[in-house]
Amino acid sequence: MPKMFKKKEEEKVFKVRRGKFVSRLRGMKDILPDEYKYWNLVIKKASELSKAYGFRRIGTPVLENLELFERSSGRSSDIVTKEMFSFIDKNNDKIALRPEATPGIVRTYIEHGMFNLPQPVKLFWLGPVFRHDKPQAGRFRQFSQFDLENIGDPSPVADAELISLAYYFFRELQIDVITQINSIGCAVCRKEYLVKLENFYKERGRRVKLCHDCKKRLAKNPLRLLDCKEKPCLEMAAEAPQIVDSLCDDCRNHFIKVLEYLDELDIPYNLNPTLVRGLDYYNRTVFEIWPVEVEASADAGLDKISDQPTFAKPDAVKEGLPRQSALGGGGRYDGLVEYMGGRPTPACGFGIGIERVILKIKEKNIPLKDEEKGDIFLAQLGDQARRKIMKLFEVLRKAGYSARQAFTKDSLKSQLEMANKMGVKYTLILGQKEIMDGTILIRDMESGIQEIIDYKKILAEVEKRLGNPAK
Ligand code: AMP
Repeated sequence: MPKMFKKKEEEKVFKVRRGKFVSRLRGMKDILPDEYKYWNLVIKKASELSKAYGFRRIGTPVLENLELFERSSGRSSDIVTKEMFSFIDKNNDKIALRPEATPGIVRTYIEHGMFNLPQPVKLFWLGPVFRHDKPQAGRFRQFSQFDLENIGDPSPVADAELISLAYYFFRELQIDVITQINSIGCAVCRKEYLVKLENFYKERGRRVKLCHDCKKRLAKNPLRLLDCKEKPCLEMAAEAPQIVDSLCDDCRNHFIKVLEYLDELDIPYNLNPTLVRGLDYYNRTVFEIWPVEVEASADAGLDKISDQPTFAKPDAVKEGLPRQSALGGGGRYDGLVEYMGGRPTPACGFGIGIERVILKIKEKNIPLKDEEKGDIFLAQLGDQARRKIMKLFEVLRKAGYSARQAFTKDSLKSQLEMANKMGVKYTLILGQKEIMDGTILIRDMESGIQEIIDYKKILAEVEKRLGNPAK
């Protein structure tokens, strides 16, 4: 021990009393090393697909002005009224932890003059979001989303591209999903529909049966009555007039085109007349991605489109589908960029919850490649050998081999046990004798056969056995 650690200092360290443990916050999740193989897989898939479809990565701050979300997501949305982590900072500014990605991305698009770029601007975003929701399985207060946004494209192809991309993402992760889809029209046709909807709820004493929240929604945001998950509200929503019957010609044609593309691409979907999504900025296409198990119970009640969108009443929706099981959701938001201070710009996007995707992968026991596995392990005996092997490790790593080590271990037995666990094909072993002889041992981990090789020829010998990773 270096002299500077005097005896007194040492005693002080050991006299420290065990402190009170501070646990993590409710609804927050730690990601332990074993879990990262799932994260890496999901992030890799999201990045690959985004790149292939021309979406470029973007990052936005976790903290934004509270007003950004109040104005975009909507002052009456659940996200803003109930779930936002907001506070006043030391400058007396009203701040919020982002509860979703789209408002920040739209702000970035406007603030950085992306309207001057060739349109559309296709953006890929991945990061944590925060919602003060009631924690339960698959519902956290901090979770991560993979988001794609297409800003500047009014055509139904853009909607269909996003929906198909989300489908391929899940299919390639071996998760069976189905898209729930609806159109909530534009400001003009929705206005007419909302009158019909309000009249429906005012008829024959329906209003009294509504839950507490829906009574308020009836005045502020009647569309939200359709996706309430309380049983009496669900039952009434199933009987309510459907928005597709009120779409104007442009919205109706847009919707039919989206569905035609999906049919062409064989993307499975269900028309879901009560799907409205909870945010103010959506118009026309809205969709959610549900795992097939959940969807199966609702399947009976929902029709697939023919050339005329007509909807059956979703009986199974009455049973109450667990909303937190949606894996992703999104839609078109043609008015948001302008509303947030930009030029009139059509746009659409979606968000997928990474934790829920990982839960699904785990639930289905989808086998994953163990990333900790390596090609070659470097074992050492004695301090001199350790120093030499630490240098050799860097040489092999830089040459592109997945080299593994346990420099802090002294016993050869425990090092070989680790090498076995890591599934390496070969272990290089360096001890005092080999240093004296200018050699090193190479052990075939399957057969247990060890050969002595010239230390200077290590790279050539390793290449002979494992190939050249650079080629
Ligand atoms: P939303 O914008 O609310 O539809 O969220 C998009 C996706 O994020 C959902 O489909 C979920 O996969 C995921 N998600 C939403 N809320 C939570 C939450 N509280 N915990 C974990 N994942 C969530």
